[in-house]
Amino acid sequence: MSDHILIVGASLAGLRAAEAVRGAGFAGRLTIVGEEPCAPYDRPPLSKQVLSGWVEAAQTELPALRPVDADWMLGMRATGLDLVARRVRLSDGSRIGFDRLLVATGARARRWPVAAEARLDGVTVLRTRDDAAALRVRLAARPERVVVVGGGFTGCEVASACIDLGAPVTVIEALEAPLLSALGATVGRYAAAIQRAKGVDLRTGVTVTALEDDGAGRLARVRLSDGQAVETALAVVCLGAAPNVEWLGGSGLAGSPRGLHCDSAGRALDAAGRPVDGIFAAGDVVRMDHPAFPGPPLRTEHWASACEQAAVAGANIARPGEPARRIAALPGFWSMQFGACLKLVGAPERADRTALLHGSVESGRFVVGYGQAGRLVAAAAVDHTHWLPFYEAQIEAGAAFPPTFARVDPPAAAWDFAP
Ligand SMILES: Cc1cc2nc3c(=O)[nH]c(=O)nc-3n(C[C@H](O)[C@H](O)[C@H](O)COP(=O)(O)OP(=O)(O)OC[C@H]3O[C@@H](n4cnc5c(N)ncnc54)[C@H](O)[C@@H]3O)c2cc1C
Repeated sequence: MSDHILIVGASLAGLRAAEAVRGAGFAGRLTIVGEEPCAPYDRPPLSKQVLSGWVEAAQTELPALRPVDADWMLGMRATGLDLVARRVRLSDGSRIGFDRLLVATGARARRWPVAAEARLDGVTVLRTRDDAAALRVRLAARPERVVVVGGGFTGCEVASACIDLGAPVTVIEALEAPLLSALGATVGRYAAAIQRAKGVDLRTGVTVTALEDDGAGRLARVRLSDGQAVETALAVVCLGAAPNVEWLGGSGLAGSPRGLHCDSAGRALDAAGRPVDGIFAAGDVVRMDHPAFPGPPLRTEHWASACEQAAVAGANIARPGEPARRIAALPGFWSMQFGACLKLVGAPERADRTALLHGSVESGRFVVGYGQAGRLVAAAAVDHTHWLPFYEAQIEAGAAFPPTFARVDPPAAAWDFAP
């Protein structure tokens, strides 16, 4: 019997899945195909230590947790999947067969939607090591102003690095506050306050309508929906990430622009919601069912989730005859910005209510809880992160929301429910 496991995507999820495959005792052939020409590297430092100049972009290589004894095909993109022939088409026109396949193609930065404007010199995104190295060079050249388009996690971290470097920075956020769409109004209020206190020119409730050039192919200014314009030669477009699913089009897998749908064992599903034999996936490319959060699958885009999904999918793909492992850990995320540590556990996107649980927004040390239908589903902490393991256990136990237990350091103000 042939025994060839193919992993497509050679970054965090791909590497950790390969390690899990070998860790589960798989002794057959293992191939890893990756579009980027380099060994797997870590992305979180790109928007933090690399931009600030503490770490070189080239020093972000991911440590191997165990030998994977794989054939690495780097600088090679998968362009199509034939499930019947069990073959993947590659960017050099060749095809590679497999017995089992693990998809770990992650996500890419969403670019500015007007192609001619996105191509201007000085307009960039931040997803890859090359993006970070190039942006670092521009920031080190002391730009007169940086415009960050989008106040999500990456946008806030880029703005934070600009402030660290003494570069004047404007953040343009369509909603009323940064981080609002991810973490709700309380964290958003905090994020807006700290950014303004640190010197960010934060513009909320406005959108960028055009990136204008100087007549010579370079960015000159950013035009806004409120009629204003910001003169700048450097704009970092931080509009989120799109899962790399296009190469799976027409294969029969349940892929959509929101990601590849998998069950909680990492098995890729077909359009009817049935696991497809021998096809698994992990990381930012997936929307995965989570046992703790019944309902629509979660697309987490978190480092720790990619690691856990890869460990589960890697173990399951290696042992097809055995009972499947399931993901169990709650989604979790961390961010460093403006000198504060922000951490999240759970699924805030499920929440219908939020409440301040500890501390105060004004003090810059607090915990926000997120509830859905009377149950705690997530908690986010700013410089109060020692509470999160406790809330993790509460979420796993299905604790009531608002919480009924006594709390240390409860907020001085009454419950602060946000929409
Ligand atoms: C700037 C930045 C900062 C971040 N900071 C944090 C943080 O502080 N905390 C946190 O929890 N998470 C953070 N993240 C998210 C975290 O890095 C991701 O969750 C993680 O990288 C996901 O790993 P992945 O392997 O699934 O996907 P990716 O890292 O996106 O890797 C996918 C790989 O597949 C390759 N690929 C794509 N398509 C193909 C194809 N068709 N054929 C072959 N190869 C292909 C890609 O080139 C890429 O190398 C950050 C991400 C970025 C970009």
